[in-house]
Amino acid sequence: MELQTKPIEALLEEERVFAPPKKFREQAIIKDESVYKKAAKNPEKFWEEIAKELEWYKKWRKVLKWKPPFAEWFVGGKINVSYNCIDRHVKTFRKNKAAIIWEGELGETQILTYWDLYREVNKFANVLRSLGVKKGERVTIYLPMIPELPIAMLACARIGAPHSVVFGGFSAESLRDRINDAQAKILITADGGYRRGNIVPLKKNADEALKETRSIEKVIVVRRVGEKAQIEMKEGRDLWWHELMKDAPSYAEPEKMDSEDMLYILYTSGTTGKPKGIVHTTGGYLVGVHITTKWVFDLKEEDTYWCTADIGWVTGHSYIVYGPLSNGATSLMYEGAPDYPDKDRFWEIVEKHKVTIFYTAPTAIRTFMKWGEEYPRKHDLSSLRLLGTVGEPINPEAWMWYYENIGGKRCPIVDTWWQTETGMIMITPLPGVTRLKPGSATKPFPGIEADIVDDNGKSIKTGAGYLVLKRPWPAMLRTIYGDPERYVEQYWSRFPGMYFTGDGAKRDKDGYFWLLGRVDDVINVAGHRVSTMEVESALVDHPLVAEAAVIGRKDELKGQAITAFVTLKEGVESSSNLADDLKRHVVKKIGAIARPEEIIFTAELPKTRSGKIMRRLLRDIAEGRALGDTTTLSDPAVIRELKEKYEEKET
Ligand code: ATP
Ligand code: MG
Repeated sequence: MELQTKPIEALLEEERVFAPPKKFREQAIIKDESVYKKAAKNPEKFWEEIAKELEWYKKWRKVLKWKPPFAEWFVGGKINVSYNCIDRHVKTFRKNKAAIIWEGELGETQILTYWDLYREVNKFANVLRSLGVKKGERVTIYLPMIPELPIAMLACARIGAPHSVVFGGFSAESLRDRINDAQAKILITADGGYRRGNIVPLKKNADEALKETRSIEKVIVVRRVGEKAQIEMKEGRDLWWHELMKDAPSYAEPEKMDSEDMLYILYTSGTTGKPKGIVHTTGGYLVGVHITTKWVFDLKEEDTYWCTADIGWVTGHSYIVYGPLSNGATSLMYEGAPDYPDKDRFWEIVEKHKVTIFYTAPTAIRTFMKWGEEYPRKHDLSSLRLLGTVGEPINPEAWMWYYENIGGKRCPIVDTWWQTETGMIMITPLPGVTRLKPGSATKPFPGIEADIVDDNGKSIKTGAGYLVLKRPWPAMLRTIYGDPERYVEQYWSRFPGMYFTGDGAKRDKDGYFWLLGRVDDVINVAGHRVSTMEVESALVDHPLVAEAAVIGRKDELKGQAITAFVTLKEGVESSSNLADDLKRHVVKKIGAIARPEEIIFTAELPKTRSGKIMRRLLRDIAEGRALGDTTTLSDPAVIRELKEKYEEKET
């Protein structure tokens, strides 16, 4: 049968709308829509005005030089990111304000004021310089969520050495590959980290990784765990952080960086394939994260802001470290797991520190839903005034749960769409302005031109298609490290002159954007292109379902048939009756073409270490192939068990 390709069919309807509460709007930094018009009229002028909020050593000659697909922002400008995140504030009343509130997994708290941060960053910058690190030389950071992590990043930024942070949950092999790709000179790690009370053997992993890397000259080791870590220090190579810091001079002159000098390399989450080393530069990146943090989170002097991401992901780079600190905010970081020692840990932290702004991921919200309302109910969450989400599309039911149970129906939710590549939030509500619809990331940030196009790159007014970005933005990636061809091929070839995000989206009659998941994941049932996201949301809408992952399996008749992997809420038993009920529920919510052919119940879904569902591995299972790249998987046992279970069922 010849399959005709149509655009993705948007099927799920959503009628609920939430206007900004009056009180919230009145005190918001952005209160009306005029910024959108102003930015659209002259985007370069708009970004230029924002750039003036930062302190530059030398002003730019030109705001943007655009030779598609290569952009330069604030051309000729000189600036230092660490200076803007710290020095700028210690000259003001913020000197003794909390910059970082650190909450350890074991319950200890450490507060670093801006002055504390200034002292530590300066000293560590001197340590790096004393080890011979020069501007432009790469430093790999493989640390748990401890204060030394942002200190090390800011020290790198101070001396102009691009950092490459590797998430502390990664294995020795993943670390090795990332060190080799970046050709890093220094590795910063810890003797170990804590995860659910267990010790993560970071130093041992590092030793393993270093057997097959040539570029690393010195390893700096933070003591987090102590004796229990049982590590060995290699003579001449390994140095203790605290010993190096003891005598380090207290001031390090910041490097006057060119606006386009590299700030960092960060590898993508690897949800769709091999991770890519995304390159971010200095001036434009800081401008982008500075203003999005301020406007999207309506960030005020007195806020206590908590983003629960790991700094090993871009969310942590932009919205735990650089964005909040550039704004002189108080940023909370938590070392451990959400269920340690119990499932109310996050809510305990919110109550303990009177968190006002809370930013997390849909995967976490669905987990909290699965655990039940009793955990947030144990704590006073009344300090919260704004909630955020990022990482995956949020299912409308998860949005509602978050809104009611965490936000007490009083806090707007900002659903922020962006990528490692975009560096900054791109599609998002502005909480004092935007009328929210559960499940929609709403509209592009001022100055951002996002569009939805069909196969030929033609704009689709309403309906579904490919999400593209049509105008360069300051925090955009500049290249893939060491692979400029892949940069052009991956992002700028599918639609000439446009950045292709790899995501599908639909636009509704009000011009709102609804993210539909990865284009690679779209299912083609008898010529209808069905979004995985919508079928999953229909399943999650069922009161007994906690989470769902939907894929298309090859089918001779229909092209593809829908297979749904489903996780149930705690205490719910699976049965074939329930499977039938779920199929009926999907048909009722979105129609017969979206009816899952088979439903597989599972205790867990395969996810990346940043918590995203890895549908490509589920497709490999359902189509009987060997599994593709699994190095970024959070728990390999989950996929092994699922594969066995699936194969048993087949025979
Ligand atoms: P890789 O590119 O290696 O496959 P990845 O795309 O998961 O990994 P990230 O850059 O961490 O790596 O994630 C960006 C992607 O996450 C987006 O392209 C989108 O698919 C998804 N995403 C992020 N935020 C949202 C959101 N608010 N709504 C919908 N999807 C989102
Ligand atoms: Mg991606």
